[in-house]
Amino acid sequence: MDGYTTVLCYTRSEIIDCEFGVSYNRPPDKVPFPNGNGTVNYVPLPIRDDGDVRIMFTVVAQSPPPNTIEMYCQTSSIDYHPVPSSFTTPLHIESLGPSQHMVENNTYSPKYMQSYDNDMEPTVRVDMAGVTESIVMTVGNYVDILPGIDDDNVELFDEDDGNEDIMDMEDNENTENDASLLGGGEHDVPSPIFRELNWDVINSITDKDLIARTGLWNESDELFKGLRFESKVDLQYAVKRYSICRNQHLIVIESEPDFWVVKCKKWSEGCNWRLRACRRKCHGLFEITKYIGPHTCVYPKLSQDHSQLDSTFIAREVQNVVQSDHTISIAALHQIVKDKFGYNVHYKRIWEAKRKAMIRIFGDWDESYQTLPRWMNIIKLTNPGTKVVWKTSLLAGCNGNVRFMRVFWAFGACVEGFKHCRPIIQIDGTFLYGKYIGKLLIATSIDANGHIFPLAFAIVEEESSDSWSWFLYILRTQVTQREGICLISDRHAGIQAAIRDPSVGWSPPYAHHRYCLRHVASNFNDKYRNKMLKDLVYRAGSQHQPRKYEACMTELKQLDEKCLEWFNRLDTKKWTLAHDGGHRYGWMTTNIAECINGVLKGLECCLSLLLFD
Ligand SMILES: [Zn+2]
Repeated sequence: MDGYTTVLCYTRSEIIDCEFGVSYNRPPDKVPFPNGNGTVNYVPLPIRDDGDVRIMFTVVAQSPPPNTIEMYCQTSSIDYHPVPSSFTTPLHIESLGPSQHMVENNTYSPKYMQSYDNDMEPTVRVDMAGVTESIVMTVGNYVDILPGIDDDNVELFDEDDGNEDIMDMEDNENTENDASLLGGGEHDVPSPIFRELNWDVINSITDKDLIARTGLWNESDELFKGLRFESKVDLQYAVKRYSICRNQHLIVIESEPDFWVVKCKKWSEGCNWRLRACRRKCHGLFEITKYIGPHTCVYPKLSQDHSQLDSTFIAREVQNVVQSDHTISIAALHQIVKDKFGYNVHYKRIWEAKRKAMIRIFGDWDESYQTLPRWMNIIKLTNPGTKVVWKTSLLAGCNGNVRFMRVFWAFGACVEGFKHCRPIIQIDGTFLYGKYIGKLLIATSIDANGHIFPLAFAIVEEESSDSWSWFLYILRTQVTQREGICLISDRHAGIQAAIRDPSVGWSPPYAHHRYCLRHVASNFNDKYRNKMLKDLVYRAGSQHQPRKYEACMTELKQLDEKCLEWFNRLDTKKWTLAHDGGHRYGWMTTNIAECINGVLKGLECCLSLLLFD
């Protein structure tokens, strides 16, 4: 998250449960923000220290619309004692092996202010000392609301002079003032920002203000001076849509992080349409500060392309479609764009747009891996009983920094729910498709309705006896200690080795290893390449009665006597239902685990999806 974050704090009352999760029993009533799929449910996140504040910002950054936080405060008196501000709350990540396990842990302590120095994310410096009454908090170096100033006189840019030399603003001076306000980000006493806030301003905020601020503008409407958007990206999207829908073209005169000026492409032919917008310091939003319109130019209709119909724009247009079906083809997206706007956009641009949409929805790989520890923290906060185990290695000469190697997680609800499932666990590994090589290990069970029941996941470097031993050991120690579990898998050497090792916890009588029949038939077919024989093997494995199993094997012998040798290496009870002893509950394959794999395939930037779907 960068730039501004608006935090609306409601205080002097109590947090209560309601239809949408938590709410506040005093007006103004909160409005759940639409997220495209309905409404957002809220869960309580106690703010105890800066680590919690960081989590709060992280959650908001990941859920639309960004940059708005509603914080309900239950205040209580505390004795205030200044303490040195040198505390840190590191995330403890410890090296793990089968003989050593440690659930990652955050230590909380009643400190009044803490300082972070974490390269992974923007440092959030917010003084939570005393009572946290605030209307706006900021991330980074900005503080934009001063006590008693609630009008638009303080602006980052001066307007109305009509020329574009406006970039000579006093940006540096502002930044210096902001820095001094923060006092370097650490305070021994509550900062003036928090002590002198004007509560009349806070209480005067209504639902109407909230709606206006989120820029619910429709492209069929005319643009106007004063229209605000959450970000420059939102503004650009709106203006592009305005132009595309009217078949008009614009050119960008100036573009800076806090500033954007465009005019009609036909300006030299006398068209005066132009628009200027900037981030206003008084509210932190992007606002149209100058507008000469409406735009009445008529352009010849070209069916091939529109200069504003770029991949970024298209990504946003198709984001909902991609979100509901990430396997959607480029051709289908191409047709959607054509139906919507009437343009035949090049396939390459649609492909790029889909890639951008995927990143918008799921985040990219670097970011996914970097935010993994924080997401795991959030999952643990919102899913009590969730188990997270890290394996890391110390980086030599890097002052205690560690390198990510593996992570295991099991949702609390699943750990609890498995107690009520049949004692069957299917395990499987699948490639993580993306920039980094890695494998996803999955353990699932089956619920009473025969539906898939996800149990545990891990991201590991490869499938090996070491990684499977690590995964199964944690599954045994952290997730379930039930005895007599039927463990169904393929015949991967790494899995077999892990199960043979009694210290991992999956040898009889604690578990009974069974093979997935589909994998057995497939392995057999790899050697004999005969579909009829393969089908017969599958039939033999599926028979309930030994007599019928024998009949199938006799038939197999008649067709190809030599192929029976292949089964000498296989323990009959591990692959046939007739000799299973009832441990499989009739469940012959790990197809179900592969259903999950199917869902994951193609999600090239999807770590966050793994965690939240
Ligand atoms: Zn024009």
